[in-house]
Amino acid sequence: MANTSKYTKPFKCPECGQGRLTDIPINADWRCYVTYYPQNLFYLADSIPKCPKCGKEIGVKRFATPELAKEESQRLLYCMRR
Ligand SMILES: [Zn+2]
Repeated sequence: MANTSKYTKPFKCPECGQGRLTDIPINADWRCYVTYYPQNLFYLADSIPKCPKCGKEIGVKRFATPELAKEESQRLLYCMRR
């Protein structure tokens, strides 16, 4: 496998904080990413990588701006509270 660490950075698993869930571009803004869990939210995600540490599958989606990602996070919280 080619060493791509110069161009990407690891996106850590939000569940355990240890595993490398996926790689994102080195210049990507963390705030543009939203994670989806539990499984009934996976249909909203772009990809569903599996954490190599804890084995959990977490949906990940990138938004164009931090504002859009924040809106989505708030919408998700609202959905989960109902
Ligand atoms: Zn994990």
